[in-house]
Amino acid sequence: MGKQQSMGKCNLCGEIVGRAAMTRHLAACCQPEASGLLRVSKQRPPAPSFHLAIEGRNSGAYWMHVALPLTAPLSKLDDFLRDTWLECCGHLSAFEIGAKRYASEPTDEEMSMGARLSEVLEVGMKFFYEYDYGSTTALVLKVVALLEQGMPKGAVELLARNEAPQVSCQRCSIQPATRICTECAWNGKGWLCEACAVAHECGDDMCLPVVNSPRVGVCGYTG
Ligand SMILES: [Zn+2]
Ligand SMILES: [Zn+2]
Ligand SMILES: [Zn+2]
Ligand SMILES: [Zn+2]
Repeated sequence: MGKQQSMGKCNLCGEIVGRAAMTRHLAACCQPEASGLLRVSKQRPPAPSFHLAIEGRNSGAYWMHVALPLTAPLSKLDDFLRDTWLECCGHLSAFEIGAKRYASEPTDEEMSMGARLSEVLEVGMKFFYEYDYGSTTALVLKVVALLEQGMPKGAVELLARNEAPQVSCQRCSIQPATRICTECAWNGKGWLCEACAVAHECGDDMCLPVVNSPRVGVCGYTG
C-alpha cells in the first residue's frame, strides 16, 4: 500500500481531515454547541460516552472514531465492529484489556462481553481486539476522551472513518485495484484490477472485492 496520507471524513460536520489531525478535530466537533447532531435534549440528557479511536493493528490506513455510552456492554462494541468492518462467517472474537480477555464465547479463563465499558475502560487506556482466531483481523483501540454529553441514549455513533485507500493494481500498475486475491493477500500482495484478476495465476475465484476494511481480502469478507 502507498504512503499516501490517510484521510477520513468527520460524520458530525462532513469535513475531510487527515488521520493524525482527526482526534483534535473531533475534540472540537464533539462539543455539544458545535454540532446539531449532539444537541442536548432538555427532557432526557444523553448519557455520557467514551470517544474511542480504533485502527487495524497491522493496517493503520483503516481507522475510525466511535462514541459509545459508558453503560454499554463490550458486546455492543463487538457487534458494531462486526457490522462495520469485520463480519464474514460468525467467527469468535475477543477484547484484551489489561491482563484480561473478554470473549464472545468465553472459556474458563476468559470473561464475558457482558462487562460494561464503565467497568473496564478509562480515558487514556489502550486495548486490543481480535476477530477470528484463525485468519485474525487485529485492532488497536484507544479511549480518547469522555464525552460528558454523549450520544442519544444507547446509541453507538460513528464519529469519523477513513476514506477508502486508493491502491493500484500490482500487475499492470495502471488501473485501480478492485479485487484482491485471498491467497496472495497473506503476503500483502494480490491487489488487482478486473482484467488482471481474470488472468491471475491463483484463479479468478480466489479473488474478493476490495472493500474499505482491515479485513479486506481475508476469509470470505466482502464488506
Ligand atoms: Zn467535524
Ligand atoms: Zn470467515
Ligand atoms: Zn491490472
Ligand atoms: Zn493470488
